[in-house]
This record gives sequence, C-alpha cells and structure tokens, in this order.
Amino acid sequence: MAYREAKTANAKIASPYPEAVGMTQSSALPLHVPMSQFPVESGELVVGGMRLGRLAARVGRTPFYAYDRSLLGRRVAELRTVLPGVVRLHYAVKANPMPALVGHMVGLVDGFDVASAGELKIVLDAGADPREISFAGPGKSRQELAQAVAAGILINIESFREVSELAEISQATGVAARVAVRVNPDFEFKSSGMRMGGGPKQFGVDSERVPELLAEIGRAGLGFEGFHLFTGSQNLKAETIVEAQCNSYDVALRLAEYAPSPVKSLNLFGGFGIPYFPGDQRLDLAPIRDNLSALAQRAAQEMPTAALIIELGRHLVGEAGIYVCRIVDRKISRGQVFLVTDGGLHHHLAVSGNFGQVVRKNYPAAIGNKMNAPTREVATIVGSLCTPLDLLAERMDMAVAEPGDLVVIFQSGAYGMTASPQAFLSHPPAIEVLV
Ligand SMILES: *Cc1c(COP(=O)(O)O)cnc(C)c1O
Repeated sequence: MAYREAKTANAKIASPYPEAVGMTQSSALPLHVPMSQFPVESGELVVGGMRLGRLAARVGRTPFYAYDRSLLGRRVAELRTVLPGVVRLHYAVKANPMPALVGHMVGLVDGFDVASAGELKIVLDAGADPREISFAGPGKSRQELAQAVAAGILINIESFREVSELAEISQATGVAARVAVRVNPDFEFKSSGMRMGGGPKQFGVDSERVPELLAEIGRAGLGFEGFHLFTGSQNLKAETIVEAQCNSYDVALRLAEYAPSPVKSLNLFGGFGIPYFPGDQRLDLAPIRDNLSALAQRAAQEMPTAALIIELGRHLVGEAGIYVCRIVDRKISRGQVFLVTDGGLHHHLAVSGNFGQVVRKNYPAAIGNKMNAPTREVATIVGSLCTPLDLLAERMDMAVAEPGDLVVIFQSGAYGMTASPQAFLSHPPAIEVLV
C-alpha cells in the first residue's frame, strides 16, 4: 500500500505537466497529422533525396537540422496555385535565416521581411532585390535605420521617433527614406498562437494616431509607400485569418485618406500556421484564396496603385525541416522508457515547450531509421542537458529504439536553431544543412 502511494507520488513528480500524468497513447486521443512530406525507403526517412543514415554520415555528426529544398519549392508552388496572381508572397526571414536557405528562397518568393540589420545583411548577401525588402520591428536603432536607408529598402515605421530619425538621416545623406506605416489596429486577432496586434502593443503605431504620424511623414518629406498590418502568428483557422485580412484592409483604406501620397503597397497579413500538435489540422487555404481575390478586386477600384502582399515565415519553411539527434542511452526508470539523446532544448527550444507555449505538447517525432519497425513502445525522448525542461517527446508511441538510432523531430524548419539558447550548458551548436 505504501509502495503504491509512493508510485503515484512519483508519477506526479515525474511530469511537470499535469495533463500528461497517467496519459497513454490510444486511438481515442487526438493524433498528429501524418508527416507524409518525407518519403520512406527501406524503413528509413528520406530527406532531400537522401536516406537519413547516409545523410547523417555526410553531415559528419549529430545533432543537425536538415531542410529539404524540394519541399520549400513545393510549398511556394502550392501557395502560388492557391493565391490570386496579384498577391505578392514575402518571406519573413526570422523564421529561418540560414544563409543557404535564404539564398534558395530568393528564387522562389517575391520579397523578404527582415527584423534586424543582421537579417538585412543575410538577404542582401543572398542576392535579394532591395526594392522588395521590408524592415519591421520595434526598437530599430539609429544605426540600423541608417543602414536600411543606404540599402534602399522599405522601412516599416513603428514610432514617431523613427520618423524624426529617418528625416535626419535622409537630410544628412540626401537619400530619401522609403517608408510604410506599421499599424497596430483597433481589432484583436482571435485565437492566434501569438498576438501581435490589437489592444496596447509595442508593435506598430495605434491606428487612432496614424493620421498624425502620416502628417509628420509628409512634413518630413519621407517617401511614403503604404501600410503594414501584422496581427498575429501560427493561426490554423481560415475564418479567423479571413476576418483579420478584411479588417486590416478596411483599416488601411480608412487611413489611406490621410496619406501624403497614394498607397503603393499594402502588406496585409501573415500568420498562416502549420500543424504542430496532436489534433492540429492543416490550414484550409480555399476560404483565404476566395477572400484575397475579393479584396484584390476591391483594391483595384479603391486603391488602384496598391500591391497586396502577404508575409509568411513558418508556413513557408516549417514543414520542410527536421531536427535529428542520436540516442546515446536507453534507461528504464520505474517502468518508463527514457531515450537520452545528444540533442536538446539548447538547439530546439520550441520542441521542449518553452518558446511561447502555455501547455507543453509533443511535436511529431519518430525514430528516423526505423520508420516501419513492427515493435513499438511508449517512450520519452530527452536531451542531454541537466534540467527536467529538456524534453523532446513525452510518453509517445514510437519504434523500440537503442543507442545509435536517430531521433527525428518534424516541423522544425522554423524557429529552431536561431530561436534556441545554443550556449546553455556549453555543448557544441547544431549543424544546419540544406539538402
Ligand atoms: C515573425 C514575423 C512574421 C512571421 O511569422 P510566422 O508566424 O512565422 O509566419 C511575419 N511578419 C512579421 C512582422 C514578423 O515579426
């Protein structure tokens, strides 16, 4: 009896996530959508046309991120067939700034959004056209603004300070700053993973103050080009995105009356999500297509000089990437299987549940060299860091695995490597390859 109580208590301590205690995988629970973007050959996952074991040998060591070129191209092609032809597709670089990947995207998308001078360097080095680069983000420094003006890119203004700094820079250098206004709209974006607009926010300028800001832009003689409305991220509900795009369009149309010159670009919205967790479904693009077609028709009448832009990060690159680490130990602790790997949250903070998630849920994961193994078990995959936060998969159904086997975390092409605290515990950084 005492033993049984101890066991229960242990089970509670073992998981910091109450909903996971006593949870077992069964068909009654929601499942991950199948990761069918990667083929399987002789039981091995194939990435960029190469079997995983051979790819690991080519890379030379684990852990590594691998991004599949053909999947990046396929995703952009899919969006092109769905979105109206006049809508321009931009890539938000912070999702994955790997230089080779950004270089590949130069040939696929119509433009880029950067959030720092560092990202600007990467996209310029990659050969992107400065006319099709925009720069958003709160707290742009004087130095960064000066670099952006010199580069000739579009700056999304987010404060009154930026207007006066840009006026000084333009005057001093004789180069007119190209600007758009990032608007913090007066509506909330419902059920988004991360809200970045509506209510009080550090992003953009509140819509009610934008007329005043536009007047200052006019007085300062900056080159006004348009509006940027970014209201949230990781949304899987088409109706919510449609509603936000309509509201954004209306806000921009209203504000255009105060603009010093006609609107040339209207950056409507990003935020398309990808399925990460059990129960998540892929975003249905059909309602978004219909709505964007309708908005494009309205724009042709109401803002005839405006190009419509949508700006996506994770939706373009997230599903094309995997994180791969190797099992170094297999332990049984009080009946539970733990697979200890050479990876961890220092490379992939998001999979551990510590990158903005409220409740930790498992990403899709598999033993990449045993994709068709008939013997399966429930196991927990952890990293090598000395903290209980270092979880890669908790109590998941997977092939029975041993030291030497390769763990694959899917949906890892966005907010992986550069969104993780690499220096934590002083292990080597992960390698990144584009295949
Ligand atoms: C982060 C960010 C994005 C990309 O968000 P995703 O969820 O990756 O699509 C787009 N635009 C701006 C301004 C951002 O800050």
